[in-house]
Amino acid sequence: MIVRLPSDAMVVLIGPSGSGKSTFAARHFLPTQALSSDALRALVADDANDQTATNAAFELLHTALAMRLARRRLTVVDATSVEGWARQQLLAVARRLGRPAAAIVLNLPLATCLERNGARTDRRLPPAAIRRQHARMSASLGGLAAEGFNPLVVLSTADEIEAAVVEQVPA
Ligand code: GDP
Ligand code: MG
Repeated sequence: MIVRLPSDAMVVLIGPSGSGKSTFAARHFLPTQALSSDALRALVADDANDQTATNAAFELLHTALAMRLARRRLTVVDATSVEGWARQQLLAVARRLGRPAAAIVLNLPLATCLERNGARTDRRLPPAAIRRQHARMSASLGGLAAEGFNPLVVLSTADEIEAAVVEQVPA
């Protein structure tokens, strides 16, 4: 599938930990185009897993997102974004700056996310956390278009994710 993204868009990757968001971002976007909640937790706490750094990390993420969108720089949000309230905060930033809000959902089966999480060498979440995130992603799918994401791309198999080609289209 060819995913066409306006070059001034916010691009929200949606998926549980282990669904491949950071891998997808690294493959298809410049390192400077991606804002990772894990990297920002590490930036403030030297530990991407330190949940006490979550509020600070997202404050930085929302601020950097707004600064980049103001400059019409395509910006990828690499965080789970499986919760409606988390997406609303992102959508509010894009709306305030008048930029398109795209979403790419890495809608892999729970078993795949659990398997990849278990095989990770960097950070591993408790399986219960992956299950919860996966359930929230599944519950979110039907409402994403109405939330305002356009384009909205749902990739539901590892093959679909592997075959995806991203094009950044001049706005
Ligand atoms: P995130 O938690 O959603 O950011 O997921 P990551 O991108 O960190 O990937 C989680 C794990 O799955 C890592 O160990 C990756 O190497 C692995 N992974 C990510 N994408 C793929 C993929 O397309 N195929 C396979 N086989 N493994 C992948
Ligand atoms: Mg990641």
